[in-house]
Amino acid sequence: MGAFIILFAVIFGGGLLYFLFNKRNDSVLKLSLSFSGAYLLGITVTHLIPEVYSSNSGHIGVFILAGFIFQILLEFFSEGIEHGHIHVHKKHSGVFPFTMMFSLCVHSFFEGIPMADVAQRQSLMMGIAMHHVPVAFALMSMLLQSGVNRKWALFSLFLFAVMSPIGAFTGIYLGDWLQNGLFEKVMAVVIGIFLHISTTILFESDSDHRFNIIKLIIILGGAGLSLMV
Ligand SMILES: [Zn+2]
Ligand SMILES: [Zn+2]
Repeated sequence: MGAFIILFAVIFGGGLLYFLFNKRNDSVLKLSLSFSGAYLLGITVTHLIPEVYSSNSGHIGVFILAGFIFQILLEFFSEGIEHGHIHVHKKHSGVFPFTMMFSLCVHSFFEGIPMADVAQRQSLMMGIAMHHVPVAFALMSMLLQSGVNRKWALFSLFLFAVMSPIGAFTGIYLGDWLQNGLFEKVMAVVIGIFLHISTTILFESDSDHRFNIIKLIIILGGAGLSLMV
């Protein structure tokens, strides 16, 4: 329970950072995204994929593929805010982006479910926290810059931050029901989501394929950390 409250607080705090750093610091944001992308990819291939494939659950690959495509679908609505940045910018429309918020919450909820697995909880929690802090920041800047009022923006941030813990509680609550291979299938869907998100983040953080030693070190750091948790 305590760990989930911390997860909520970290993500919520990440969104509040917007009030501290009103101006976007793109290079720091990009490096933190590279780190989280490398870490997510790392835990996916070293922790999560081996676990689901070593279970007795069948057709795991199909579920991974389904998760990957599911994330592509979500991004039609979320405009890719899951990557910690905004692709489409409708300036000062003041209209609350319901579909974006909805798909972001679905994404966040799904990612929370496998945290019901105690063996992977810590690595998953760190991965979600790391990649959702820049998302929370992007969410706040997107909402406030497009003229949504502060109360709605804070409420949206709250919803987004609380979704992964709710997903985790749902996973725990449905624990017995999810036995007999169903849990691994849900995990496989999340693996597909992670594969999509992490590779997209790494791809997008790469401007013009120019060699960047700092970024390489950051990526090695993120991947290295995934081997240690
Ligand atoms: Zn993107
Ligand atoms: Zn996420």
